[in-house]
Amino acid sequence: MNIKEILTATIDFFKKHKIPDSRLDAEVLLAHLLDIERIQLYVKYDLPLEPQEVAAYRELVRKRAERVPVAYLTGEKEFMSLPLVVNKNVLIPRPETELLVEYVIDYCQDKGIDGPNIVDVGTGSGAIAVSLAHYLPAARVLGIDLSAEALAVARLNIDKLGYTGRVKVIKGNLLKPLLKMEKDNVDIIVSNPPYIPRNELGNLSPEVRQEPWMALDGGKDGLDYYRQLIKQAKAVLVRGGIIVLEIAYNQGKSVVALFDDDWEDIKVKKDYAGSERLITAALV
Ligand code: GLN
Repeated sequence: MNIKEILTATIDFFKKHKIPDSRLDAEVLLAHLLDIERIQLYVKYDLPLEPQEVAAYRELVRKRAERVPVAYLTGEKEFMSLPLVVNKNVLIPRPETELLVEYVIDYCQDKGIDGPNIVDVGTGSGAIAVSLAHYLPAARVLGIDLSAEALAVARLNIDKLGYTGRVKVIKGNLLKPLLKMEKDNVDIIVSNPPYIPRNELGNLSPEVRQEPWMALDGGKDGLDYYRQLIKQAKAVLVRGGIIVLEIAYNQGKSVVALFDDDWEDIKVKKDYAGSERLITAALV
């Protein structure tokens, strides 16, 4: 079998299994297996594959047909143009979340904040933490996560991209590890917390349902973590420090209502698709 034949057969197979991006997925998996760029598949269209390559590809294809997300099969996902390691213990970084990172980068540049202390709550793969360190060359970032398995992935990414000096991670529940400390000097808190209302978890796509529930389940109304975080943040942020949170498209109003008079400049920002995606506020 050559590349052309196996791709054609796989795309058909994926279509039968109603895999949404059948061609893209077939190509990404084959390029990953052969360790070449996707475009090279077309350059080498007539290249015959080794039997063990065919066997290994079939195994990936079978798993994809069972709705395992492509990123879990390749073990990688690009975020903010950085190649990140992922596995089933972490939420796969979403393109929408780049808005949060871009917001923080712009904020620091606009305000001339040079070396901010940033805390990323629920860091997961470390996508937000590492990309902030990458694009803010003097920033120091602390990632917190309750999952030891997720922190292992975050550490891999920090290490692989060379940020062990400026990005640290610790295990803990939201900001609790910092609440015990004396006086804090955190300038920016960021988080993409779990925010899906519990009764909507069942409606998620088969792919998303293979991601860690603890990264998705936001409690009864999806707002559990915002309630706790916004309260805890007051004890951790410097005066004038900001919190920047990802939200679901329909949560803007409810999350705005969680900020009391200790906060100002409360803003909801839309993503490129026009959905509310981000909320930010400054501590008075
Ligand atoms: N954006 C994720 C989704 O689409 C949800 C992530 C979260 O709960 N923070 O499933």
